[in-house]
Amino acid sequence: AVLRIPFKQHQIQRQLLSPAALKTIEGLQKAGFEAYVVGGAVRDLLLKQRPKDFDVATNATPEQVHRVFRRSRIIGRRFRLVHVMFGDETVEVSTFRGSHLGDDGDAKIADSGRILRDNVFGSHEEDAVRRDFTANALYYNPANEEIIDFHHGVADIRAGVLRMIGDPVTRYREDPVRMLRAVRLSAKLGLKLDTDTEAPIPELADALKDVPESRLFDEMLKLFLSGHALESAHALRQHGLHHGLLPLLDVVLEQPMGARFVTLALQNTDERVLADKPVSPAFLFATLLWHEVLAAWQKYENLGERSIPALHLAMTDVCDQQAEKLAIHKRFSSTMKEIWGLQPRFEQRAGKRPFSLIEHPRYRAGYDFLLLRCASGELPEELGEWWTDFAEANGEARQAMLQPDT
Ligand code: ATP
Ligand code: MG
Repeated sequence: AVLRIPFKQHQIQRQLLSPAALKTIEGLQKAGFEAYVVGGAVRDLLLKQRPKDFDVATNATPEQVHRVFRRSRIIGRRFRLVHVMFGDETVEVSTFRGSHLGDDGDAKIADSGRILRDNVFGSHEEDAVRRDFTANALYYNPANEEIIDFHHGVADIRAGVLRMIGDPVTRYREDPVRMLRAVRLSAKLGLKLDTDTEAPIPELADALKDVPESRLFDEMLKLFLSGHALESAHALRQHGLHHGLLPLLDVVLEQPMGARFVTLALQNTDERVLADKPVSPAFLFATLLWHEVLAAWQKYENLGERSIPALHLAMTDVCDQQAEKLAIHKRFSSTMKEIWGLQPRFEQRAGKRPFSLIEHPRYRAGYDFLLLRCASGELPEELGEWWTDFAEANGEARQAMLQPDT
């Protein structure tokens, strides 16, 4: 039975919503429709975290939503949504969606049980059932400050539990990405995975290979930029989800040096995210793959290749191999290659070379990368310190720091 939870039990005031979300909901309700804040935002507010964005769910069709707001547009082909704009804020409005299991709807299911298309409108209740976790199926109505809770999501959040709605095995088969979401959201929110939600994951992990790479990549990016990357990476590994996704986690986390390097890189990323500083995905993936590059580099040198050409062969191999699984975008892989390609140049401290390196557009990323290599024990700390001092020194002092030309 559906619960209607009043303000005095949850204490979420309508002022906690963004102005645009409030105006969107008021506009729809004035036009006679139902409208609620839904999903991550309600959950985050209950957990006293700041929501990233506010999504709205309504019984109005996309066309009807579009007619209510002059500044709005209908987007998406698979899921048709409406973006409503107020100033520089955009609110995503979705129409209640129904079950893919009906025989009259516009839905398609693969033999594996994976849903290929589910763009059927439905009732409010149906919209709640097709969401993933109970904590994500809460609807907040600012007009009366009430939460509508079909699946005891508020109780689960209070108990610190992340629980799949329905039968977890079926839900993971429908959409294997839900396994990654389980790991990411439990780390990010500090919620424990419910036993039945957690248990089937290792056995179903293989199903991720059928998911389009671009979707996997987006999900991995969310995971690594969540501010809880280190914890998530360990959880991925613990649940056997990294196979095929980031096979390198297997190798890397087993070599002491590699494990230290990745751990430092993820810690560093988490600190930046939590301090609201920008994080470069290319830098992050460059760190995750570095020990693969090192191994391939060594292999080509052993085959008699000279050092720099060997490094370039190694970089290409590693990127191609990852592209098969993760679809790391070209725009990222070219930056990754630049960061890696600069690394040997940091070991040259004579003549004009340090002066030209420090002017390189990727110098800063290359230097940050070098510091991680030093901190992980791959290179002597002294090398990183030399570059720190060199960058701070004036012209004359820099000259004095140079090593004799050989
Ligand atoms: P985040 O804080 O990372 O944004 P979120 O839960 O809001 O977390 P979104 O990807 O923004 O994640 O999704 C919004 C909502 O859509 C979710 O809260 C959930 O209700 C629903 N949802 C998203 N992905 C799925 C999925 N794979 N299966 C079922 N429901 C989903
Ligand atoms: Mg969200």
